[in-house]
Amino acid sequence: VRILLLGNGGREHALAWKIAQSDLLDRLYVCPGNGGTAQEPKTVNVDLPPTDFPRLVEFAVKNEAIGIPVFGPSVLAARMEGSKAFSKDFMARHNIPTAKFRVFKSDQFTDAIEYVNTCGHSVVLKASGLAAGKGVLIPETTEEAITGLKEMMIDNVFGDAANEVVIEELLTGPEVSVLAFCDGYSIVPLPPAQDHKRIGEGDVGLNTGGMGAYAPATIATPVLMDQIMKESLRPTIDGMRKEGFPFVGMLFTGFMLTASGPKVLEYNVRFGDPETEALMMLLREDVDLVAVAKKACAEHHLDSTTITVRPGFAVSVVLASQGYPGSYPKGKRIEFKPTPSSAYLSLIYQNFIGSINIDVVVFHAGTTKSDNDIVTSGGRVLAVTAYGETIREALDAAYAGVETVSFDGKTYRRDIGHRALATLTE
Ligand code: ATP
Repeated sequence: VRILLLGNGGREHALAWKIAQSDLLDRLYVCPGNGGTAQEPKTVNVDLPPTDFPRLVEFAVKNEAIGIPVFGPSVLAARMEGSKAFSKDFMARHNIPTAKFRVFKSDQFTDAIEYVNTCGHSVVLKASGLAAGKGVLIPETTEEAITGLKEMMIDNVFGDAANEVVIEELLTGPEVSVLAFCDGYSIVPLPPAQDHKRIGEGDVGLNTGGMGAYAPATIATPVLMDQIMKESLRPTIDGMRKEGFPFVGMLFTGFMLTASGPKVLEYNVRFGDPETEALMMLLREDVDLVAVAKKACAEHHLDSTTITVRPGFAVSVVLASQGYPGSYPKGKRIEFKPTPSSAYLSLIYQNFIGSINIDVVVFHAGTTKSDNDIVTSGGRVLAVTAYGETIREALDAAYAGVETVSFDGKTYRRDIGHRALATLTE
């Protein structure tokens, strides 16, 4: 099989790493890829813009037979991510638990204000369209909410993304991400993961693309996961098919675990980053990602496929450039030392018989090759990812891995997994 993978982040390196382990693979093209994807076996980077669809189709046809199976959503299915107004209406039609909401068009400013003044609960304001993760405002007072609405609906701060505005009820509770393989009919969720969005330790400071993740997030107990499957994921996949846009690919659903049960915050129609780095590490070695994506999902045989995970925990710690998520320098040379082995880590644990089972992989995100060096080329530079039999072992292994990489301005959070550790000590 030849595969064309689109993207250039840590997520894509983690996917390339897993895909490259498949016996079914002849060649993996990553478009445009990064300094790490180019190092995987049977893998080459392709220098094409990943959103130039006519040229991508031309490339794919040149390199593979006609009738190319696709692991990814159709244009219609992608509305679940591309329009929050659409996905909220979809959830309402299918009784999927989510925050109460109303949608307003940009010429309904006064109606929107009246709603905020009379709805009787705190609100969250969302630009309906894609806004690079910045289209959500959480005002603390009604005055702030009205100012936010004015920015969105009158001042056009979010451009066309705010042609429709979703006003929803403020929910509280821990968040979990559930990534699930789908073939249009069946849905197989991976263990729940938790992301760390803010730049600062203790979840403070600016929002980022994600500074780290771990899985499984044990706060989403098996009972809650059953509830999530029954109340949210199954109705989503069935609803999409019944409405004429079946979903094939990876469905990412963000949940808030509220006192009245898990509620859907959002859908993404693709793998999440950095959850994917942790989850690829958590998949058992004998899970063939090519078989899962092609045979199971794109060719609709997911119901007869088992996707097994290792019994422990995976952690991914993102190393960012200094200044991220603001402006940051590029072109800093990265030095890599060998990642810590199980033998080394077993010394830390005073466990000399070597029964310890640990893996550490450094996934590349914003890196590129420059002459014979790997240099930084983005805000999030690397995702150091580790597996351990306990959350503590996985964290220690990941942070030992962090020490093996150096570049000017290396910035990271030292508290990835703090919520999981807190439940251990409770
Ligand atoms: P992302 O970058 O995660 O794709 P997005 O722009 O698609 O973000 P959402 O995921 O809908 O937006 O919301 C972003 C964040 O805002 C959520 O992760 C959550 O922390 C917070 N949030 C969203 N909706 C609510 C809500 N109803 N109540 C409380 N917090 C919320």
